[in-house]
Amino acid sequence: MVLSELELRHFRNLGIQELRFPPEGVAVIGENAQGKTNLLEAIYYLESFRSFRGAGDGELTEFARDVFHLRGSVKGDRPATVAAGFDRKRKKKRVSVDGNDSIRVSEALGRLGAVVFSPADVDLVNGGPRLRRRFLDILLSLNRRGYVGALSGYRKALAQRNAALKADAGAMAVRAWDGLLVKSGARVTRVRGEWVADRAGTFTRYCSTISGNDPVAMAYRPDVSWRGSGDGDHEGAGDRDASMPDENTIRELFHARLEESWGTDLRRGVTTRGPHRDDLRFTIASKRRTLPVRTFGSGGQRRTAALALRLTEAATIRRQRGVDPILLLDDAFAELDDRRSERVMTLLQEECTGQVILTAPKESDVRLRGPSLARWNIREGMIEA
Ligand code: ATP
Ligand code: MG
Repeated sequence: MVLSELELRHFRNLGIQELRFPPEGVAVIGENAQGKTNLLEAIYYLESFRSFRGAGDGELTEFARDVFHLRGSVKGDRPATVAAGFDRKRKKKRVSVDGNDSIRVSEALGRLGAVVFSPADVDLVNGGPRLRRRFLDILLSLNRRGYVGALSGYRKALAQRNAALKADAGAMAVRAWDGLLVKSGARVTRVRGEWVADRAGTFTRYCSTISGNDPVAMAYRPDVSWRGSGDGDHEGAGDRDASMPDENTIRELFHARLEESWGTDLRRGVTTRGPHRDDLRFTIASKRRTLPVRTFGSGGQRRTAALALRLTEAATIRRQRGVDPILLLDDAFAELDDRRSERVMTLLQEECTGQVILTAPKESDVRLRGPSLARWNIREGMIEA
């Protein structure tokens, strides 16, 4: 896909601007704190209707303003004009696609087909499981029909069940939520598991291509686990092709886990089992051991795994939506050694032939398709094309 136009109104420090993007993309160059990441955040907002940095909508609204608006047009196989706005006072988000503003956010998701690469992605490997679940949730919300619905059903059931547990409302009030919890939770588990099973090979291939060696594996660690999904941290788990049970079986497993943990849940006043405890695990196979990348990987290996994860996301968009994703590269290769960043560039050139919108603090940091991309400068949020 190709982002052709973007209209900004009071999003962060970007003021009021109308931008026209060249079909091959652009390199946006500016010093620190000028608004480079803000611009990519604005573009990705039209894909996901949230900040890729995890900021709340209120933070995205220009200081001293109450409302921001964004509108972007994409061309390609599935052209669309997507608009979004947020009113900080009324805490109200509005979206529209091709002028239809009665569309729900969940239906408007994923119209751009964009992927962000950011230096903060290394936290996907280094950080806690919450970030990896967030990655899965965003990816699957954008690329799997029905996932958003299952996820919001699960979140609702979990919140209500936890509230009932906390309030000591009695077994009936707590258990009333088990049906929805199990049904939506099993769906979430199954979709997450399918994606990992489907894409683990691609991920490993990207890692090997970037690093030249160190086969790194990605495995799903569902809390509602099954034989071969690797409950424990036993060696070798995760690199076996674990056959995933069907959704009904996952429901039964989840029910059984809820039974087992009933006493604990009551005592702690919280639901202790379920996909809100899932994780993704990255391991390096070295000699006869498998070691977690998070604790044993070098800085470069961890960055490599994070990049490979984003490339896998791009591959998912290509496969799922049949469009070449728009790459949003936020100074993404700043910390890779030359050999690795060379290979990442090559991979990106080969695999992602679409539009590239990249940012860099200095001209000398522009490497991807360097000479061919137009240059824009950004200062205090204002872009000079
Ligand atoms: P770096 O090179 O350091 O990553 P950057 O160009 O990516 O910098 P951004 O993160 O895009 O910088 O922008 C940071 C600037 O945006 C800061 O000056 C900050 O004060 C400003 N900013 C952030 N949120 C808002 C907001 N809601 N309203 C106005 N300005 C904001
Ligand atoms: Mg930045």
